[in-house]
Amino acid sequence: MERTLAIIKPDATKKRIIGKIIARIEQEGFTIVRMKLVHLTKDEAKGFYIVHKDKGFYDSLCEFMSSGPVVLMVLEAENAIKLWREVMGATDPAQAKPGTLRHTHGFSIERNTVHGSDARDTAEWEISYFFKK
Ligand code: ADP
Ligand code: MG
Repeated sequence: MERTLAIIKPDATKKRIIGKIIARIEQEGFTIVRMKLVHLTKDEAKGFYIVHKDKGFYDSLCEFMSSGPVVLMVLEAENAIKLWREVMGATDPAQAKPGTLRHTHGFSIERNTVHGSDARDTAEWEISYFFKK
């Protein structure tokens, strides 16, 4: 069993589609092992996205991620990291495949509805960033 960090981003909580996204997560066979609704500070968002600190979109991304509540979740499944990224779709909703969450609900490459870890080591780091052992 593998674990990944999922986030329902502020564009989605604002649109009141938390329930839809969680229903999809359960339908895909994930077990939600931790979950909380929080309003991140900009500094918390900056710490989380520190790998992107040199990108042009970093400040705007962190502003967006702290603009409203988010749902933080730890999802468990076999190949959870890859499976959740498949369910999310490509970063840019315009490039994401039909049926993926980002294709269906994403507004822009920044406001793209959901987050998912991209590898085992980043998943472990991201989970520990938000959830104590
Ligand atoms: P992913 O979330 O698919 O792993 P990245 O790790 O590359 O994508 O980027 C992290 C987040 O930063 C994206 O989900 C998106 O919200 C935002 N982002 C990525 N690229 C851009 C961009 N070119 N312009 C604005 N925001 C971006
Ligand atoms: Mg990423």
